[in-house]
Amino acid sequence: MERQFESVSQKGIGVYIHVPFCASKCSYCDFYSRVRQDQKAGYLDALEQEMFGWKNRGLKADTVFFGGGTPSLLTPSELERIVHAVKTNFALLPDAEVTMEANPETVDQAYLEAVAALGINRLSFGVQSAIDRELKALGRRHTYERAVQAVSDAKAASFSNISVDLMLGIPYQTADSLRVTLSQILALAPQHVSCYLLKIEEGTPFYRKNAGQLCVSEDETADFYLTVARTLRQAGYHHYEISNFALPGFESHHNLKYWRDQPYLGFGPAAHSCIDGRRFYNPPDLQQYIETDGRCSLREESGAVQDAAERLMLGLRLDEGVDLSEIGKKDPSFDEQAQRQFLKKAAVYERAGLLEVDGSRVFLTEEGMLVSNMLLARLLPD
Ligand code: SF4
Repeated sequence: MERQFESVSQKGIGVYIHVPFCASKCSYCDFYSRVRQDQKAGYLDALEQEMFGWKNRGLKADTVFFGGGTPSLLTPSELERIVHAVKTNFALLPDAEVTMEANPETVDQAYLEAVAALGINRLSFGVQSAIDRELKALGRRHTYERAVQAVSDAKAASFSNISVDLMLGIPYQTADSLRVTLSQILALAPQHVSCYLLKIEEGTPFYRKNAGQLCVSEDETADFYLTVARTLRQAGYHHYEISNFALPGFESHHNLKYWRDQPYLGFGPAAHSCIDGRRFYNPPDLQQYIETDGRCSLREESGAVQDAAERLMLGLRLDEGVDLSEIGKKDPSFDEQAQRQFLKKAAVYERAGLLEVDGSRVFLTEEGMLVSNMLLARLLPD
C-alpha cells in the first residue's frame, strides 16, 4: 500500500474536508448536508479516524479546503480539532493555502480572528447576489448588508485572500440587477470571484416549485455570463476557469488540483478523492460515516485518472487549455491518429470562435466556455 503512494509523496496533495451541516437547506441546493447538528461530535470523531488511516504514508499537503455544507457552523475549537488532525496525519507545508467556505450570517470579526489563528488563510463567502429579493428567493439566510459586514469583518481579521460566490440565472435576476450586483461586489474588492449558473436539480424545492419560470431564458443567462466575464476582466480579474476569476496570483490552488488532475484526498461523507490513478468517494451518508468511524467502504469511481476524455473534460475548463500530445503520452488510446481526429472536429468550432488551437494545445474562448458542455460532448473521443 505504501509503495502505491510514493509517486505523490514528494509533492503536496490537496486535502478536502466535507462539513455536512447547514442551518437550513437553500431552495436550489443538492450538495450533501444535514440540518440536524446533534451529530457534530460523532462526525468529528469519525473524521479524525478517517484521516488517521493515512498517517505514516509520508504525504505532504499544500492545500486544505473546508467545504460543505457550511463549515463556518463549526466552532473554532471544532475547527482546531480538524486542523490538528490534518497536521498530525499529513505534513502541512508552511505556505499551504487553507480555505474555509463561510456563510455570511454565521461569522463575526471575533470568530474570523479565531479562525485565522488556526492557520486558515483564505475565505470563500457564499454571497450569490447583492439583491435581497434574489437572496430570499434562493432560500439564503443572509441579506446583502450582512454579506458586506462579513467581508469587512474578514478584512479586519487580517484575511487578504477572500473569494465570493455569485449566481447567475436566479429567480428575479435581470440585466439591471446583475449590474448592481457586479458593482457592489467590485466595491468589496475580493481577490477571487466564483460565478455559477443556476441549475435546477431534480429533488430540490426549486425543481418541485418549477422555479425556472421566475428565471430569465438560457440565452439571457448566457448574456449575463458574458457580462460578468467582461466586467471582471476589465476590473483586472483573470478568467482562469469557466466559473472562476482571480486577481493575479489569487487563483484557487486547491481547486486547480481538480482541473489539472493533481492528487487530492477528500474526508467526510460525500467527499471525493483522486490519488495515484484512482478515484473514489465516501457515500453521502453521515449516519453510516459515524457508525463506521469514517471507514465506510470507499466506492471506486469508474474511469482511470489518466483517461483522455477525463483529462480533456477537466483541462478544457481552464484558460490554459490542454496539450493533446501530453494527454496522448498518458493514455495510449489517444494516439496521434486520435489527436488528428480531435483537431479535425475542433477546426469547425475554431472557425466559429469557440476555441483556439496552438500547435497541440487547445483552449476554449469565453464564448466556448459558455457552451462547454455541448462542445465537450461533440469533441470528446468515443
Ligand atoms: S448553505 Fe450551501 S450547502 Fe448549505 S444548503 Fe445552502 S447552498 Fe447548500
